[in-house]
Amino acid sequence: MTDVCAAPSLMPLEHAIPQLLDFITPLSDTQSIPLAQAANRVLSDDVISPLDIPLHDNSAMDGYALVLQGDTFSAGTELAVVAKVLAGHPVSQTIHLGECARIMTGGDIPSGCNAVIMQEQVEVLEGDRIRLTADVTRGQNIRPMGQDIAKGQIILAKGKRLNPADIGVLASMGLAHVSVVAKLKVAILSTGDELIPAGQALKTGQLYESNTPTLHSVLARLNVEVINFGIVADDEAQLMDVFSQADNQADVVITSGGVSVGEADYTKKVLETLGQLQFWKLAMKPGKPFAFGQLKNSYFIGLPGNPVSALVTLHQLGLPMLRKLSGEPVQEKKRLAAITTENLRKSVGRSDFQRGVYSVNEQGQIEVKSTGPQGSGLLTSMSQANCYIVLEQERGHVSAGETVSIELFDGVLGYF
Ligand code: AMP
Ligand code: MG
Repeated sequence: MTDVCAAPSLMPLEHAIPQLLDFITPLSDTQSIPLAQAANRVLSDDVISPLDIPLHDNSAMDGYALVLQGDTFSAGTELAVVAKVLAGHPVSQTIHLGECARIMTGGDIPSGCNAVIMQEQVEVLEGDRIRLTADVTRGQNIRPMGQDIAKGQIILAKGKRLNPADIGVLASMGLAHVSVVAKLKVAILSTGDELIPAGQALKTGQLYESNTPTLHSVLARLNVEVINFGIVADDEAQLMDVFSQADNQADVVITSGGVSVGEADYTKKVLETLGQLQFWKLAMKPGKPFAFGQLKNSYFIGLPGNPVSALVTLHQLGLPMLRKLSGEPVQEKKRLAAITTENLRKSVGRSDFQRGVYSVNEQGQIEVKSTGPQGSGLLTSMSQANCYIVLEQERGHVSAGETVSIELFDGVLGYF
């Protein structure tokens, strides 16, 4: 049954995203790059560990490595200290029952030893002897060989976008280079006669352009190569020319503005001439008009011009496309339940991505409040927010105290 309130021609986001993704074939070019340049790049192959880490059993503590015959040694046991092991300076000497080795954190466990007692649990006696002041059990304070990484294991899977810890894992396996998917080239531009770049004097009727700087900084966080065409006037011939140049140079062309049905909205016409385009009216707010498709050489994404709509649609629809194109598996966005502390205005028929600020209250529950007015031109609502408040298509006004879904800003939109 069709709900009379929901406009049937609007496409829900849950349908739009899979359709977009179906359309995309990931890039196939790969390159080997130094580890120092690999942060945020996407692995083109599984990485298999060439060695065990740790390479040998080693000590997790500064203390004494001991030889237990059974499973424990009791407090009070006395032992002779017969060797000293520092990290990077293993000893070949075998330690026997009744003996022990002084050992520092990271030192290789000498042969014969099967536990380490921390130095705080030992009394140092005359004549290189110690007395244990606590019980010790077999294996205690030993970091076993291969505990972190086993030789031959797939340690990072193809498609993984490398985070700082991944870079560390690669380095710990001794890998100086890594094979990644080629860097995506993304052309960006804004359309509109009224737009001028920051730094120039503003005339009547003009406004400072903010979408290309915003897009640029989002794309920088994904480590793609950005080709910035800046501002293009609402002029069919100029648009045709710049879109063609962008198509020649990039894997993806992302524009903002001109995708509505106004008199100066040429994007549709130009793109239908140059390529194959789909125009959608999405059942989401902000961000109703959205275009995507293919030019001769590149994929195309046409974002709405309103700055909040542009950023939200780039984040919700554009980024999954770019991730798939870069060979990443695209994951569904994770949402959490939160209690709204304020009434939220909402009309039935579109999903809202309202901007919110979440926090955790004294009871440990997640609460969320609105950033205030939610107009699609109010970019400060995005800059103040740390999450979206996602209100379902069929939901109406929400009262304070009700539970809502929130989507935390990820590393692309969020804070450092
Ligand atoms: P459009 O989608 O071209 O109809 O633009 C919708 C609204 O967004 C208009 O008020 C434009 O002035 C504004 N707008 C479009 N592009 C930008 C931009 N790059 N930066 C700031 N505002 C923009
Ligand atoms: Mg416009």
